[in-house]
Parts: sequence; structure tokens; C-alpha cells
Amino acid sequence: MTNNLTPQTPAEGILKRNDWGYSKLYNVPCSCGGDNCHHDVWIEAEDTGVTVTTYTQQKSKWWSLNRFQIIWTLLTKGYIEYEASITMTEQQTLNYAETLKSAIVDVKKFKEDHAKSV
Ligand SMILES: [Zn+2]
Repeated sequence: MTNNLTPQTPAEGILKRNDWGYSKLYNVPCSCGGDNCHHDVWIEAEDTGVTVTTYTQQKSKWWSLNRFQIIWTLLTKGYIEYEASITMTEQQTLNYAETLKSAIVDVKKFKEDHAKSV
């Protein structure tokens, strides 16, 4: 293991899909190469701050619960829990973190600049 990794530009494992100024969309592939566990990360500047939303095609464990468990969980919690994992290399993880940091700064700045010019 190496400890001298630095964030990369362009970043390995982080694909910029779109950039609307106010918001940016990235795709983060899973290092297993599978199509089902990649993430889409959407960073958006709003009046209340910056929102980071991740989307992933998840396979819930619905099918492993019986009907009663599903209904009970919905009644008591209002949702069904499931989880998604993504496997990233050390370098990719670092790039992910760095991309989030700079995207947050970018969208905030865009929003502030835009607000001034109106
Ligand atoms: Zn995977």
C-alpha cells in the first residue's frame, strides 16, 4: 500500500457527465466493473446551501422479506431499508472526495456570481 496518493485531474474513476453551473453530475463506476453498482452523484447549489444526492441502481432485499415483514416495516418505519455498496480503489476514493470538495466550491461560486449579476 502506498501513502503518497494525491488527487488526480482529470480524476480516475470519476466521470463528469454534465455541468449546468448551478449543478454538476458525476458518474462513479464500481471497480468490479459491474453496471449495477455505479453511482451517479449530483451536486447542486440551492438557496439553503449545497445538496449532494447520490443515485444508484440498487437491488433491494424486498424479495428476501416475507409479506408480513414488508408490511410491518412499512407501517413502523414508513420505508424499506436496503443498502448499496460500491468498490473503489484508494486512488478513486481520494478522487471522489476531492471532486466533491471542488464541485461544492464551484456550484456555490456560480450561484453567488449569478445572484450578483441579477
Ligand atoms: Zn461493483
